[in-house]
Amino acid sequence: MNSKSAHPRLPLPSLWEATAAPAPVTEQLDGSSSADIVIVGGGFLGLTTALALSEAGKSVTILEQYEIGWGASGRNGGQVIPGLKRDPDEVVAKFGEELGERLVAFAGQAPSVVFENIARYGIDCSSVRKGWIQPAHTSGSMALLENRAAQWQRRGVEVSLLDAARTAELVGTGTYCGGWIDPRAGGIQPLSYARGLARAAIARGVRIFTQSPATKLGRSGSSWCVSTPKGDVVADQVLLCTNAYSGTLGADLRRTIITPNSFQIATRPLDEGIRRSILPQGHVASDARRLLLYYRLDDDGRLLVGGRGTFRDPEGAEHFGHLRRALALLFPQAANAGIEYYWGGRVAITLDDLPHVHRLDDGLIAVLGCNGRGVALTSALGPRIAAWLQTNDDDEIPFPLSTLRSIPFHQLQTFYVAGASAWYRLRDWLT
Ligand SMILES: Cc1cc2nc3c(=O)[nH]c(=O)nc-3n(C[C@H](O)[C@H](O)[C@H](O)COP(=O)(O)OP(=O)(O)OC[C@H]3O[C@@H](n4cnc5c(N)ncnc54)[C@H](O)[C@@H]3O)c2cc1C
Repeated sequence: MNSKSAHPRLPLPSLWEATAAPAPVTEQLDGSSSADIVIVGGGFLGLTTALALSEAGKSVTILEQYEIGWGASGRNGGQVIPGLKRDPDEVVAKFGEELGERLVAFAGQAPSVVFENIARYGIDCSSVRKGWIQPAHTSGSMALLENRAAQWQRRGVEVSLLDAARTAELVGTGTYCGGWIDPRAGGIQPLSYARGLARAAIARGVRIFTQSPATKLGRSGSSWCVSTPKGDVVADQVLLCTNAYSGTLGADLRRTIITPNSFQIATRPLDEGIRRSILPQGHVASDARRLLLYYRLDDDGRLLVGGRGTFRDPEGAEHFGHLRRALALLFPQAANAGIEYYWGGRVAITLDDLPHVHRLDDGLIAVLGCNGRGVALTSALGPRIAAWLQTNDDDEIPFPLSTLRSIPFHQLQTFYVAGASAWYRLRDWLT
């Protein structure tokens, strides 16, 4: 995708970079221009919002500091999972019956938006929709999953519970005591999806500038002016979609979230026999641990395993030992396949586990914090944010507006993450 120098602190090429559909041709912003709306950040959220706005006749410019999908959108596990980090009943308890149920329904149908986009824009991104398995590592976590599955069942979703034997058959490991399947989920090649969205957006008139970091934001009369090193764009509205890679543009957004790394490894393509023993029906999976492990196969039969990472960006294979060990424990049949790719990316975590929508000023909006569930959520959010930008009607957005709140002692987030990891490990062990 990019030259090494365009990927600061990411010396390890990801599986997705190596196998993605080509990126559409884009250029660096050079000179002055104008648009109705400027979007900062070329990930799923920026791209899907831009698409919806352009289809509504708005002129849109996207500024991306590196390349399309450079952030989490091009590096994630590609698991298109419905729902929020919080269970439906918790969401309803927090927001009340009407708003809560609306939010649950919105998040529940989010994967459909991804698969509709893929069909509608003809995006070639290895999509499969066979469902998501969430296996339980202990009987305590199985009880939680039974409750979770029942909550979705009550809302009309045809989820199924799995006993230990069926889980072993469908996942390909005997280490779990059961699980459940959500049929709404699936898998994609995420960087190909991002590039496909970008291609569709460009075809509909969106101007995408890459290698164009937004470095300054200021008023220009009643409009906004967003500056990059070589140019600027004046627009009525600005949307910040910088997520875990946020800086201080517009507001000190990075202090409102915690941004731990999530790491992934991918084996070499597995031999046919081994391949058929792991997730043989094409499910994607992530287990019920708080420090979860997520895994799936890619199109070529590589096994991908993801999980927690060090807070610092990885510099070499030696930082992925914990994932290699997890892979060998879960899938001993694939332990000797050899690891072909190692990579990581930052997840935007909010303290309430919910995405945050901020109105920072008149015509200045920021949306961030999908808490590791953003593949589907961002695609569903994009059109809603687009509608909101056009109408200014707060009912268009599924979440209530958030107050901008810095996390206390944010500079200690390395310690928060280490502390939370230790705490979660203990709770995973106890429950
Ligand atoms: C390793 C990993 C695995 C994950 N796995 C899953 C999964 O399997 N399923 C799931 O649902 N979710 C998953 N997620 C979460 C999901 O990927 C994200 O929620 C989603 O991609 C966020 O999209 P986004 O557009 O909001 O942000 P991003 O894709 O991170 O985009 C933000 C963009 O803003 C750009 N930017 C930042 N500052 C500037 C600036 N000043 N000027 C211009 N551009 C700027 C960045 O370069 C970046 O491209 C995972 C995340 C990671 C990191």
